Amino acid sequence: MPEAETYLEYLKSNRAQAVFRLSQAVTDSLREFLGSRGFIEFLPPIVSAVTDPGLRGAERVQVSMYDTRAYVMSSMVFHKQVLATAFSRIYSFAPNVRLEPVRNAGSGRHLVEFCQLDVEEAGSSLEDSMRLAERMIAFTVSKVIERHRPLLDSLGRTLSVPEVPFQRVTYDEALREGAKYGLSVRYGEELPQVLEARISREAGGFLWVTGYPKGCRGFYYRESDDGEHVLSMDLLFPEGFGEAISGGEREYRPDVIKRRISEARLDPGEFREFLAAAEDGLRPTCGFGIGIERFLRYIAGEREIARVRPFPKTPGHIAM
Ligand code: AMP
Ligand code: MG
Repeated sequence: MPEAETYLEYLKSNRAQAVFRLSQAVTDSLREFLGSRGFIEFLPPIVSAVTDPGLRGAERVQVSMYDTRAYVMSSMVFHKQVLATAFSRIYSFAPNVRLEPVRNAGSGRHLVEFCQLDVEEAGSSLEDSMRLAERMIAFTVSKVIERHRPLLDSLGRTLSVPEVPFQRVTYDEALREGAKYGLSVRYGEELPQVLEARISREAGGFLWVTGYPKGCRGFYYRESDDGEHVLSMDLLFPEGFGEAISGGEREYRPDVIKRRISEARLDPGEFREFLAAAEDGLRPTCGFGIGIERFLRYIAGEREIARVRPFPKTPGHIAM
């Protein structure tokens, strides 16, 4: 935002008026798509005794409630396994709070408070989930273009409906691609954001990455048969907008969850409630989360994520 402009002035500007109307169009279309496929929407938790510990360098916000340690939700991953076990197909527009390192402040794509559309399905595979996610994205983009072209025009944004299936690369291929552009990564590390942005720009469209080594992903992703990888995927936006989605098949067997927690050098006590749900009998589920502000940023062609989130909090800066 230009220095001289107050936040209220920004909200009243033609640009913000178009962006936030597009936001409504995006969430309406996502609900339409998921509803038509029998997914039930749940209201999300805001605080919990257990939430995702693995946040790519970000920290959780810990709070004390009645002398009990709790967290502001950083992701709904554990809760959605429980809901999908009971209701088969579920989704939620879930608030996430993550204290991102201040070095991410200039990235244009990191907020401290953001909303994730969390989707989870019992009995579904990684392939099923990838197909569902890409169709959901193609549907949403097509509805936005069909119903709101004047809003896109007012932002100078040209969008086309992406063709499904989206292109794919494996983690290993992504490393080799990165090396071509002088971006070297130690095997087993998370793919750096610059590498993701670069390979997605080169791909010229949406791009899936699969075949992640298990050390660089959360303990809750199910192991591949080789025991070295996880059944997990990321989706990268075109045009260098970076990561859109993370997801995968979830581990649901209590003994394997316990082993994975200890391999990740985490405190099993912290995941007591999740382990209790697993002992109770979780079904195998698969799903994904897409950051709504990231999706809207792509739809609107806006490089600065703070402009597409009402009352944005950016790393290092907590405002209204
Ligand atoms: P993760 O669980 O870290 O893979 O996050 C799931 C999705 O939420 C990502 O694929 C992004 O779309 C979105 N996301 C993650 N972190 C942030 C952030 N700091 N600001 C905005 N969106 C985010
Ligand atoms: Mg991710």
